[in-house]
Amino acid sequence: METLLRTHRSVELLHQMQGLPERRRTHGGARVTAGGWSKRVCAIASRGALLELLPEMKKEKLDFELPKYDHSMGKTLDLAVVGGGPAGLAVAQLVAEQGLSVCCIDPSPQIIWPNNYGVWVDEFAAMDLLDCLDTTWPAAVVHVDDATKKLLDRPYARVNRKQLKMKMMNRCVSHGVTFHQAKVVKVTHGEFSSSLLCSDGAAVAARLVLDATGFSRCLVQYDKPYNPGYQVAYGILAEVEEHPFELDKMLFMDWRDSHLAGKKELKEKNGKVPTFLYAMPFSSDRIFLEETSLVARPGLQMEDIQERMVARLRHLGIRVKSIEEDERCIIPMGGPLPVLPQRVLGIGGTAGMVHPSTGYMVARTLAAAPVVASSIVSYLGGGGGLAGDDLSAAVWKELWPIERRRQREFFCFGMDILLKLDLQGTRRFFDAFFDLEPRYWHGFLSSRLFLPELVFFGLSLFSQASNVSKLEIMAKGTLPLVNMINNLIRERE
Ligand SMILES: Cc1cc2nc3c(=O)[nH]c(=O)nc-3n(C[C@H](O)[C@H](O)[C@H](O)COP(=O)(O)OP(=O)(O)OC[C@H]3O[C@@H](n4cnc5c(N)ncnc54)[C@H](O)[C@@H]3O)c2cc1C
Repeated sequence: METLLRTHRSVELLHQMQGLPERRRTHGGARVTAGGWSKRVCAIASRGALLELLPEMKKEKLDFELPKYDHSMGKTLDLAVVGGGPAGLAVAQLVAEQGLSVCCIDPSPQIIWPNNYGVWVDEFAAMDLLDCLDTTWPAAVVHVDDATKKLLDRPYARVNRKQLKMKMMNRCVSHGVTFHQAKVVKVTHGEFSSSLLCSDGAAVAARLVLDATGFSRCLVQYDKPYNPGYQVAYGILAEVEEHPFELDKMLFMDWRDSHLAGKKELKEKNGKVPTFLYAMPFSSDRIFLEETSLVARPGLQMEDIQERMVARLRHLGIRVKSIEEDERCIIPMGGPLPVLPQRVLGIGGTAGMVHPSTGYMVARTLAAAPVVASSIVSYLGGGGGLAGDDLSAAVWKELWPIERRRQREFFCFGMDILLKLDLQGTRRFFDAFFDLEPRYWHGFLSSRLFLPELVFFGLSLFSQASNVSKLEIMAKGTLPLVNMINNLIRERE
């Protein structure tokens, strides 16, 4: 499990281990999903047959002509972006807008991203991206247990991934980004430029290379053992007969376990490594449902998650008629940062940008893209006079400045505590967490708090916690706290 997400091969290994069908194997790095491949399949909807309702595998494509990179010209570009996910395209468009030459290399640049992205509306509002949300809920709900329900007065939304990708691709194309449809297999570096070798034999030369290949971490190097926690989830966008959720609220977390009454083994497993339901109700009969293990090491088996989901839906009286999309989600969280600095730049999943305590990343990455792009432009194009290793080092420093690295240490501390909590502990934790002042829990989830504020956040959470929870945090959090303090002391400018 440790190296599960290192390569495409290892993702396939997971599938062999789990006996998942061949046709569902990885698309785009670590994603293992059929999400985004539309067209519903109508099938028998008997109670036990939920997981046999498979969506038809159709990759939906954006309908426009791609400007192709002409490698016969042998030109050295300013920037080669490897990977056309949200992270790669966000930087490509911004750098090209400043007049630099950019090529984006991706095996399927026209395919609509498959992940079902959820974000807090204020995060997208701050980036002027409200037009890229397709459904918005004015509030969210957390069920801590059967007796405790919390209303989160913070609008949440589903990203319209087709619109977001279209918007980015249009901006890329109108500013001259070219595309090469292949996988990058190797990079070699000269003093002032680098050369990428692609799976089709083409070579692309550029003064800077940005690895934006998500969790497959194609080029960026790590020098410490890769030991992340894993968020594992199984989600379906489904047509159902009915569901019990209010349409004006999204279900952020449902930690209730009454669906496991009478299922001794499942209940015990869930008691140790709990999963929750996340749901986006679109209408009375169309809903996205995702059973999620927040973080575990090793990650939970997909089959366990599916089994819990089937039991939960049955208990809630949700009968699935058909499935439009499904997604098998495996997100590495925390673990070491890549070697800082190094010649190849990174952004997004490949550069340690997933929030280590939540698994969220889209908003943070899109907000970081202008920082990375403007430093690339100023050091590369604006007479910064840097090249090769010095150029890369200057850009890495702006992506991972000391405040961000310290913030990440704190978030990893949060993950280390979550890893140790069983169902009861997790409930107590979120009971206190969502009672914090909104600026604290909003800021924590959206990576807006930095170290001095994070200490106040931690103290506030501790004072808010029940006595049992305080004892638990002290017992289970002391070692992670000491580790965090050591790491913070080691962090240098
Ligand atoms: C199922 C799932 C659901 C998620 N939901 C959310 C969410 O709701 N909210 C949130 O904030 N985050 C979410 N995340 C986490 C994270 O935001 C996403 O993983 C996000 O897609 C990462 O963006 P990225 O651009 O870094 O990588 P990706 O989106 O993975 O894009 C990487 C691109 O690189 C390409 N590529 C890979 N290898 C090569 C190669 N060798 N050469 C060239 N190209 C290559 C791939 O084809 C792909 O197009 C989710 C993750 C998963 C897996």
